[in-house]
Amino acid sequence: MNEAIRVSLISLGCARNLVDSEVLLGHAIEEGLQVVKDPEDADVVVVNTCGFIETAKQESIDTILSVARLKQEGNLKGVIAVGCLAQRYGDELRKSVPELDAVFGLSDYSGVPGVVRKIVNGTSRRFSATVDGGKPKGPRSDNKRFLLTPKSFAYLRISEGCDHKCTFCAIPSMRGRNRSKPMDVLVEEARGLAAAGIKELVVVAEDSTAYGLDFARKRLIADLLEKLGEVDGIRWIRLMYAYPHTVDAALTTFLREHQKAVRYLDIPIQHISGPMLRAMKRGVSSEQVRGILDRLRTEVPGIAVRSTLIAGFPGETEADFAAARALVTDYRFERLGVFTYSHEEGTPAFAMPDQVPAEVAAARCAELMALQKGVMGTFQRTFVGKTVPVLIDGYDIDAKAVVGRTHADAPEVDCRVLLAKDAGAPGDLIDVAITGADDYDLRGDPAAATAVRTSKGKRKPE
Ligand code: SF4
Repeated sequence: MNEAIRVSLISLGCARNLVDSEVLLGHAIEEGLQVVKDPEDADVVVVNTCGFIETAKQESIDTILSVARLKQEGNLKGVIAVGCLAQRYGDELRKSVPELDAVFGLSDYSGVPGVVRKIVNGTSRRFSATVDGGKPKGPRSDNKRFLLTPKSFAYLRISEGCDHKCTFCAIPSMRGRNRSKPMDVLVEEARGLAAAGIKELVVVAEDSTAYGLDFARKRLIADLLEKLGEVDGIRWIRLMYAYPHTVDAALTTFLREHQKAVRYLDIPIQHISGPMLRAMKRGVSSEQVRGILDRLRTEVPGIAVRSTLIAGFPGETEADFAAARALVTDYRFERLGVFTYSHEEGTPAFAMPDQVPAEVAAARCAELMALQKGVMGTFQRTFVGKTVPVLIDGYDIDAKAVVGRTHADAPEVDCRVLLAKDAGAPGDLIDVAITGADDYDLRGDPAAATAVRTSKGKRKPE
């Protein structure tokens, strides 16, 4: 009996790319391939690349080259590159990495298993398997996914592509225009995830607040979230990648009032100074952005706001940077990521005058991150002495602790709660008495919480 062909996948980049990886592996299993975790144990390795910014591109190329070495050393029969870097630089990749057996642009990847078979059976000529480099795929169901996240959460990708024209961003050139998935398809996906034991839906897109604009000519994100809230088994719904243009009352009402809404919003603003927002073509003014941020505080009490800032965008003056610094000090984001501007060819910002020297951009980024560390440390310490719901993700060998997250922590990008070894299993949503905090992680004790809870009754994810 022929042994199953073993495929391993390395998923790089963002949560949206991770969903693509899970779909690809879902196809592989459906076609009778065996998914193995370790590339050393595989016949073929697929690298799902990221092509967003310089550092991510370099990581993708380094990963492909390190896998290619496995092939030269003998065991591995094939290496396939898929994803954004493959979409953006397919031809260059083919030419510069002869070890690659196939390059797939952004497609539904349903063709990958067939190419894997061809490679293993020696019936594929190099690159004959290159398909679909051109058109980004339409919205489709991601139902048959091989989940790569722990049992506690899964990403729900609600649309593909983006209609914005941010001058620093190459994503629209890779993933195309905004295409929302039909609501019933998404509810079906959510039911499938709940049936698989998933407790938290982490809703992702390039711009989640644009959901519905393409097929209904109006924003339907709040309607979609309400529908997802009807899915049994799902306990938490977390919204990522909101665009600071329109956060309407329907959305803040959902975040404030729905039993399953996590009081959290990821809303990347990239900058706050007027001249920078104009140069970035963000389509919003500084006042508009600040207005939305303030409304989140007043309309959703206790909300944790996550955002990102770019330091060193072309033309950024000391005054522009001072505005960003003042915002970090004054608004006090619960969670914040700061990136240095990435000089991306093919983006309008690439040719802009007044490029900021890399060392200045790096210094500005470091200064904002240092400020944010203080802000976050203060916020983390407000948890000490409180009992809060914590969703358990799993066990961290290095930390020798069970790790979980509060409402203020999105998976993989925010902070954690460290708990005793027997605190619980992935997917358990438990009350935890927070006993300690450092600038990033919290420590807690479920046992102490139990004593509290029995005296106080049921609790909502505040
Ligand atoms: S909103 Fe702007 S930064 Fe985000 S994916 Fe779209 S174009 Fe890129």
